[in-house]
Amino acid sequence: MPAQPQILATLKEYFGYDTFRPLQQEIIHSIFEGNDNLVIMPTGGGKSICYQLPAFLLQGVTLVISPLIALMKDQVDGLLANGIAAAYVNSSQHPNEQHEIYQKVLDKDIKLLYVAPESLSSLDTILSQVKVSLIAIDEAHCISAWGHDFRPAYTQLGYLKSKFPETPVIALTATADKATRQDICDQLNIPEATQHLASFDRKNLSLDVRPGNKRIEQIYAFLSDKPNQSGIIYCLSRKTTEALAEKLKDKGYKAAAYHAGIDHQKRSQVQEDFINDTTQIVCATIAFGMGIDKSNVRWVIHYNLPKNIEGYYQEIGRAGRDGLPSSTLLFHSYADVVQLQKFADMSGNKEVQLAKLDRMQQYAESLSCRRKILLNYFGELIEKDCGNCDVCKNPPTFIDGTVIAQKVLSCITRVKEQEPIGTVIDVLRGAQNAAVQDKGYQNLRTYGIGKDIAWRDWQQYIIQLINQGYLEIAFHQNNKLKLTALSKKVLFEGEKVSLAHLKELEKAKQPVVLPTDQGAAPDLFEKLRALRLELAKEAEIPAYQIFNDATLREMEKFRPMTDEEFMQINGVGRQKMQNYGYQFIKEITNFSSAKTKKKKKKSAKKGNTHKETLVLYQEGWSIEEIAVKRQLAESTIFSHIMKLHQEGEPIDLHQFIANQDLKAIENAKQDLDNPDGLKPYFEHFEGAIDYNTIKVGLTILKEDRKTNALQ
Ligand code: ADP
Ligand code: ZN
Repeated sequence: MPAQPQILATLKEYFGYDTFRPLQQEIIHSIFEGNDNLVIMPTGGGKSICYQLPAFLLQGVTLVISPLIALMKDQVDGLLANGIAAAYVNSSQHPNEQHEIYQKVLDKDIKLLYVAPESLSSLDTILSQVKVSLIAIDEAHCISAWGHDFRPAYTQLGYLKSKFPETPVIALTATADKATRQDICDQLNIPEATQHLASFDRKNLSLDVRPGNKRIEQIYAFLSDKPNQSGIIYCLSRKTTEALAEKLKDKGYKAAAYHAGIDHQKRSQVQEDFINDTTQIVCATIAFGMGIDKSNVRWVIHYNLPKNIEGYYQEIGRAGRDGLPSSTLLFHSYADVVQLQKFADMSGNKEVQLAKLDRMQQYAESLSCRRKILLNYFGELIEKDCGNCDVCKNPPTFIDGTVIAQKVLSCITRVKEQEPIGTVIDVLRGAQNAAVQDKGYQNLRTYGIGKDIAWRDWQQYIIQLINQGYLEIAFHQNNKLKLTALSKKVLFEGEKVSLAHLKELEKAKQPVVLPTDQGAAPDLFEKLRALRLELAKEAEIPAYQIFNDATLREMEKFRPMTDEEFMQINGVGRQKMQNYGYQFIKEITNFSSAKTKKKKKKSAKKGNTHKETLVLYQEGWSIEEIAVKRQLAESTIFSHIMKLHQEGEPIDLHQFIANQDLKAIENAKQDLDNPDGLKPYFEHFEGAIDYNTIKVGLTILKEDRKTNALQ
């Protein structure tokens, strides 16, 4: 096994990262020990490095099985940008191109070779002539009919272990249910695989579920406090994506539709514009988002109910990869359930699909902490309610719903269990439409007994009754409502029913605040982002492959101005420093000096003592010089400066603190768990960093947090 310092150095030099995320290190060690591994990690958890880093250090070529051509290309581009030799083979390539790659593999010039399962057999001859160091199977749930994404071509992958018995296999997926996990190991022939199960808790994602009435109004309200924030709206049908994008555009949003029916070039354009923040909102079918590493997606809406929890969790997981707070919203409607039932009916493994849909529905209709349900689904139990879902934030109160239940149940008895929800409610409310009149329902005893309750509230109550088992929907008989054994208890045995009190649905906030690009002059982050876009266009690669947002944020915070400082930024490896360091450093330097000039230009106001300091400061004198001139202590001048900064004077605090000190203070802040005052820091550094510097550092960090929270 390579020594730990070598592993860490590779992480920094070739991937740009200072530390491992949870589990990455254990997984990598396990590979070096020669074990087979099964990795279950949520989307955005950082699966790729788990095999890419060992691939780089092991002798021979690592084979990566990946289901999507777009995904493969993306990963290979990313590796090449980091200076790691990688290539892919798939059916879209010309034979000449493929042969060139085969030759490179034979010449040992390739560390990672990506291949779609369908093309694997074409590699047989080549692979028998080289050492295969590791076999990585990405999106491994595709092998299992229990998973939500079954791909027949994956089922032949089991032979790999028999063909390369000495080569460790690593299977990776974000799908975690137990049945699928076991099935993956069985089918891949790796029964002894070490299982690594990462936490699926993404605390920064808020969870919200609302009834799917007036969705578009609800969306406008949802967006009203999110100007310029990137988001995805997932829809079930292509038509909806287009209609929705049009509506949003009419309202002034930069929105686009994305689905499999749009031609390839246009789709890439939409994706690129989204990645580069020129399109704010993408209305998409589920095809969108796989393999996109856009870290600043701030929200995800599900316009329709997803067909299972795995898919739902993967999709909301595309929000907030940078760890900043992000919102998710799911609309729930019975029409969607019916639609999805039909899809499930047509699918090959109907029972499994229906069971999964059931769980999805239970989640959407839950009256207790939603995160508990999600994590429970992935086999993780949390004791406390999360506090970041709609149920936790707004817990239901219960009312005695016995009379309500009796009315519904007896109405269903009278219509002989032959009607769906809508008609039952119409009868309860005494509607005079054809569906009711033609069948003579106006003559029933229950006709009009529920006038006092609004249509939508009846709908909600009936849903609750279904969830509690007092009613059933016969999906295969035009969704007729049917009585159950429990309904009889309510009707004939005096059983009490408890129902959640319905709150007013959040009123759509009007008028909608439209997004605007005007406002403050672009800050350093915006400048860095513009530079990144320019470089990406030049190199014809996606912007995030140059640096992701989290890395740009670090640059903004630490303002590296030398190569060494630049290398210290998390996300910067050697190759990228060489390729892009110069331009980024130049941008940062220009930005900083422009600010200083502006400061100097501003005319000085006479005033009390700290204002006198300001005048001298604006003339360009240093703190020491001002102290001498004014015959005051340096610490006094320093406190003037801090006060001026606090009053909003444009004083760039970064000039008073070295990069590594700022970093050290940030780390200490975490290690010491946000202590009060400066002293704990001073003691922590054993006096190596003085009080003034600590104060500057903490002020910068505090302001950074505020700006981040606003974004
Ligand atoms: P997954 O495949 O699990 O969805 P990725 O491998 O695409 O996740 O990683 C998600 C994001 O996390 C990427 O932007 C990646 O660069 C970043 N990342 C991965 N490992 C680390 C690490 N150790 N430190 C910082 N960022 C990391
Ligand atoms: Zn909760």
